[in-house]
Amino acid sequence: MAKREKLVVIGGVAAGMSAASKARRMAPEMDITVFEKSGFVSFGSCGLPYFVGGVIPTHEKLIVRTPEQFAKNNIAVHVHHEVTHIDLGEKKVHVRNFESGAEFEEPFDKLVITTGGHAVKPPIPGIDLPGIFPLRIIEDGLAIRRWIQEKKAQKAVIVGGGYIGLEMAEAFRNLGLQVTVLEMLPQVLPNVDADMAELAQEELLRQQVDLQLEHKVEGFEGKGRVEAVVANGKAFPADIVLLAIGVRPSAKLAEEAGVALGQTGAVAVNERQETNVPGVYAAGDVAEAFHLVLKRPAYIPLGTTANKQGRVAGANVAGGNAKFPGIVGTAVVKVFDLQVARTGLTLAEAKREGLNAEETRIKHHAIGHYMPNPTPLHVKLVYEAGSHRLLGAQMVGQQGAAKRIDVIAAALHAGWTVSDLGKLDLSYAPPFAPVWNPI
Ligand code: FAD
Repeated sequence: MAKREKLVVIGGVAAGMSAASKARRMAPEMDITVFEKSGFVSFGSCGLPYFVGGVIPTHEKLIVRTPEQFAKNNIAVHVHHEVTHIDLGEKKVHVRNFESGAEFEEPFDKLVITTGGHAVKPPIPGIDLPGIFPLRIIEDGLAIRRWIQEKKAQKAVIVGGGYIGLEMAEAFRNLGLQVTVLEMLPQVLPNVDADMAELAQEELLRQQVDLQLEHKVEGFEGKGRVEAVVANGKAFPADIVLLAIGVRPSAKLAEEAGVALGQTGAVAVNERQETNVPGVYAAGDVAEAFHLVLKRPAYIPLGTTANKQGRVAGANVAGGNAKFPGIVGTAVVKVFDLQVARTGLTLAEAKREGLNAEETRIKHHAIGHYMPNPTPLHVKLVYEAGSHRLLGAQMVGQQGAAKRIDVIAAALHAGWTVSDLGKLDLSYAPPFAPVWNPI
C-alpha cells in the first residue's frame, strides 16, 4: 500500500485550522497532525475583548471546534504541544508535550507554519510584575477576568491606543473599572489619519476614559504586583494593566530553520502561500501579505487574512492551485458607540509612500435625515492627484461605517478612480441610507 502523505501544521487558530480543514476536504487520505502550544484551537481571538467585558458569557462560546470534533474528521490536534525546532533536511519537527514533559520527533512531507503573532513586550523596568497582561489567546482572557475578580480591581491602565487597546477600554468600562489609556503618539488608532482619530478620542472622553496622548511608558511599579504605570515621569495608579502596543510575527522558529523572512520580519510567501522552501507553507499573522495598493508585501495581521491564507495553503498542500492575491488593508473597530473603519492608505501613509495624494472629507447623515435618530457619518476619500485613482478611505460614525467601507475595499481591489465610485448603484431606503449615499 502506498504511504499516506503526512501534513504537519504548527499553530491551531485561524490560519492553522483553516489549512488543516481545507487539506482534509481536498485530500481525504492525507495524514494531518496539528500542534498547538496553548490549550485551545479554532477560536475567535477577535471576540476576546467581548468575553473579557462580559458581552460573551463564557470563553467556550468563542470556540468554533474542539480537538475532539476535529478528531472525528480525522485531523489529529494536540494542544499543549510546542514545536521547538524544525529540521528541514530530515523533514521532522521536534515537539515538547507540556503536560507529560515528553519530547519527540514527528516526520512530515508537507509543513504549514501558522505560528501567528505575539504581543510586543518592551524590556522596561517592572514589565514582569504580576497584573500586567497581553491579550492574545483564551488563557489571557481567562487570566484577566480572574485577576479582576480576585483582586477586586478598580483601576485599569491600558498601554497602547490601537484597536485592541480601545476595544479593551470598553470591556473594562463595562466591568465598572476606571480606565486610563496611555498612548505614546499624539493620536489613538495610528492606522487612521489624525483628524479621524480625533472623533474616536472625543468618544473615549465621552465614555469617561482618561486618555493620555504623547505618554511613553517608562516602567511599572509595585510590591509583588503592579500598582502603577510610570509615563512622562508621572505614576498612574493601576490594579491591572493591559499591554497592547502592537503585534510582531512569531517567525523565529521558521527563521531558525532556514525559512526566509521578508522585509517586514514576517515569513515571505508567494500567492500560493509557499515559502522559499519547497513543501513548506506559511499563513496568517506569521506571514506577509501582498498589499494591492502599495504593490509590495506588507505586515497587517488580521483574522480575515489569516483564514483566507490558511485555506489557500491547505488547498495547495493537497495538490490544488489556490491563490491569495493580496490585501488592501481593510479594518474596522468599535470604539464604544462609534464605528471606525479604514481601507487602503490614509493620507499620511500615502504621503509617506511618496504618492501625490489628496483627500476629500464630508460629513453626512448615515440614514435618511427625517428618520428617528439620524447620526452623522464622516467619510474621507484619499486619491491620487491627476489620475484620481482611489487610494483609500476612512469612515467614522455610529451607524453605517463598518459595512460601507467594504464598498471602497472592493473598489480598491478593482483599481477604480473616484469617479467610478460615483456611478455605483448603491442601495437606498431611509432607514438604511440617505438618497445621496455618503460614499
Ligand atoms: P494566531 O491566532 O496567533 O494563532 C497562532 C497559534 O500558534 C497560537 O495559538 C500559538 O499558541 C500557536 N503557536 C505559536 N508557536 C507555536 C509553536 N512553536 N508550536 C505550537 N504552537 C505554536 N482580526 C480581525 O480581522 N478583526 C478583529 O476584530 C480582530 N480583533 C482581534 C482582537 C484581539 C484581542 C486579538 C488578539 C486579535 C484580533 N484580530 C482581529 C486578529 C486576529 O485574531 C489574528 O489575525 C488571527 O488570530 C491570526 O490567526 P493565526 O492563526 O495566524 O495566528
